[in-house]
Amino acid sequence: MIKTNLKKLTAVLGLLSCTIISVETLAATELTKNLKQGALIVGKTTPNSKVKLNNKLLTVSPSGDFVFGFGRDENKTHTLTIIEPNGNVETKTLMPQKREYNIQRINGIKKSIMKPNPKAVSRSKKDNAQIKEARKTFNPFTHFANGFIPPIDGVITGVYGSQRVFNGVKKRPHFGLDYAGKVGDPVKSPAAGKVLLFVSDMFYSGGTMIIDHGHGVTSTFLHLSKSHVQQGDSVEQGQLVAEVGASGRATGPHLDWRINWFDVRLDPAYVLNLKPL
Ligand SMILES: [Zn+2]
Repeated sequence: MIKTNLKKLTAVLGLLSCTIISVETLAATELTKNLKQGALIVGKTTPNSKVKLNNKLLTVSPSGDFVFGFGRDENKTHTLTIIEPNGNVETKTLMPQKREYNIQRINGIKKSIMKPNPKAVSRSKKDNAQIKEARKTFNPFTHFANGFIPPIDGVITGVYGSQRVFNGVKKRPHFGLDYAGKVGDPVKSPAAGKVLLFVSDMFYSGGTMIIDHGHGVTSTFLHLSKSHVQQGDSVEQGQLVAEVGASGRATGPHLDWRINWFDVRLDPAYVLNLKPL
């Protein structure tokens, strides 16, 4: 009697493990879990697959890694299509999860403060063009897939997505994660990468550095007082790259850290929680 049951049990267990294996084989593509607005989404699939986000072809690394992101206000359904080398087609429908951002309404601001200064406008246009160009860079390395660490040990004083409304006029949302710090505090690279840009004196952002983590994923640091690396340098995760400052139009010393996927602005707080696949 016991023998028969054991036999049955072994048979059932055997069947179960077979089922689990076949499920794993079918689900060839994995994605990181967070699909909220502002999230960087890392995927892993069978090497040599083709991956399309809507109609845009994403680059898949030789080990099957790929990446994309959802902007602050992204609200359209996205279709991810994976064509495996054997011809199998896998489709995933992704809906960015809506977030509530902190909106601060301030009224009664003087007109002179509301009006931008023409010199500032022309200089910041030049700065923005330079930043935009750097963020178009594509590098084939996949350091983004190994996770991120905070660039400094400071207290967070400003978050992604928050927005001020002055006299009813919506200002540009804040896209960075602000950390309190003192001038000279070390800034470490949150992931390995390559230095794309360092400009010591941008109009609004002061000392500005961009580090490429691969496939369009970049970190940007603002208001720096000093750089420890040069454009073109390769850096390791945790390597000292710069020092905190109050340069540009900053209210005081702090580090403003941004994360982008090309021109899509993402939430740095989310990349800190990414678990490598
Ligand atoms: Zn900031």
